[in-house]
Amino acid sequence: MNAKTPANALRALPSVDALISSVGGVALVERYGRTATVDMLRALLDETRTRLRAGETAAIDSDSLLDSAAARLHTEQRGSLVPVINATGVIIHTNLGRAPLSDEALDAVRAIGGGYSTLEYDLDAGARGSRLKHPETLLCTLTGAESALVVNNNAAATVLMLAAFARGREVIVSRGQLVEIGGGFRVPDIMAESGATLIEIGTTNRTRAADYERAITENTAALMRVHSSNFKQVGFVEETPIADIARIAQAHGIAALDDLGSGALLDSAAYGLAHEPLPQESLQAGMDLVAFSGDKLLGGPQAGILIGKRELVEKLKRHPLARAFRADKMTLAALVATLLHYRKGEAVEKIPVWRMIARPLADVHAQAEAWAVQVGGSVIDGESTVGGGSLPGATLPTALLALDMSSVDIFAANLRRADPPLIARIQDGHVVFDPRTVLPGQAEMLIEIVKRTLQSDT
Ligand SMILES: *Cc1c(COP(=O)(O)O)cnc(C)c1O
Repeated sequence: MNAKTPANALRALPSVDALISSVGGVALVERYGRTATVDMLRALLDETRTRLRAGETAAIDSDSLLDSAAARLHTEQRGSLVPVINATGVIIHTNLGRAPLSDEALDAVRAIGGGYSTLEYDLDAGARGSRLKHPETLLCTLTGAESALVVNNNAAATVLMLAAFARGREVIVSRGQLVEIGGGFRVPDIMAESGATLIEIGTTNRTRAADYERAITENTAALMRVHSSNFKQVGFVEETPIADIARIAQAHGIAALDDLGSGALLDSAAYGLAHEPLPQESLQAGMDLVAFSGDKLLGGPQAGILIGKRELVEKLKRHPLARAFRADKMTLAALVATLLHYRKGEAVEKIPVWRMIARPLADVHAQAEAWAVQVGGSVIDGESTVGGGSLPGATLPTALLALDMSSVDIFAANLRRADPPLIARIQDGHVVFDPRTVLPGQAEMLIEIVKRTLQSDT
């Protein structure tokens, strides 16, 4: 198309005005906005001029320029936070946003986020109320706690309980529990940030009740248990039971704090997994305060949930950091809706994370077979993982669609470039897709994307 000399080509280049008033240009303005379209066309024309002057070839006709502008405007306005299809088989995938919300939780976000609400309004009194009360009753009913408080995430919950009860004093933690969760959460750093002094006891693999007893001084504020969420110790291992930690703390008049991490309300052992400790078990064992995440095995929005003895939770509520860490109305709405699923006994049917965990293998297998019929490949046995810093090493048997190809990395990268991006797993030289983590409405899209990518690959 460019038999022209650079000088001719430069002269033949359409103006921004001409482009913007063409049929295609008007459509772009309608879709992406005038300023964005003009900026994009201007940048594109500048680029084209630079290339022509450098003696390179470049498309100069209006249609090509408008097509390029459309593609770039699409990318720009789509942004970088977009939904993806998770075919990795990792159910609580932290990089992919952890727990997907239930329909009811999403409806609640829409209803509360899209209008005014009783967030901090007491209808009976016609006066100011507290945002903290909304999830509190449900949390207490479900866990047996006297009181509850919700903040932005479990990291904030842990900082808050340490700052409120142990600033300037000592907190005793077993060496086996000085964990790093990922994303920069390391127990010793969190402790330092909260102004508490960490007293390490025991050894990496064994800590006994007597180790706690011995370490207590008049400057001790609390004993803390950190659940080693994302790794497992095997062999010559001894952890002090939390009932013993709670008993020792009580005998010395200090607090027993529990950073539980995932905090499932249902027993994962009922689904062939290891037992992830439940917050209600911590309270029964006598722990004073328990902190856990909203978007791990609870299956709700990102949140940090603190439950425990009334006196202690009330002190947390009054701490200035509680205000700094306070949860948003959309979080509270989604959390209450999620908790209601547990209250109604429908968590396994309604909460995506639990639905995926509970999904029978035969069902997953049938879906993988159906996919293989449509796109080829074979169905192989595999393992789904729970992920999200819970149940380390625990897997669920699954069925995978496996595609064989010469360059798995390039194929997987092309899948990631699809719209919506499709995230698959590479395993033993195959690209594999686990139906377990693909949401019900996404299966058809997945097939479409795989077919299209296979075609453009050959
Ligand atoms: C996941 C986890 C955290 C961090 O929770 P977020 O909700 O991600 O802030 C803290 N402690 C433990 C033990 C965890 O497993």
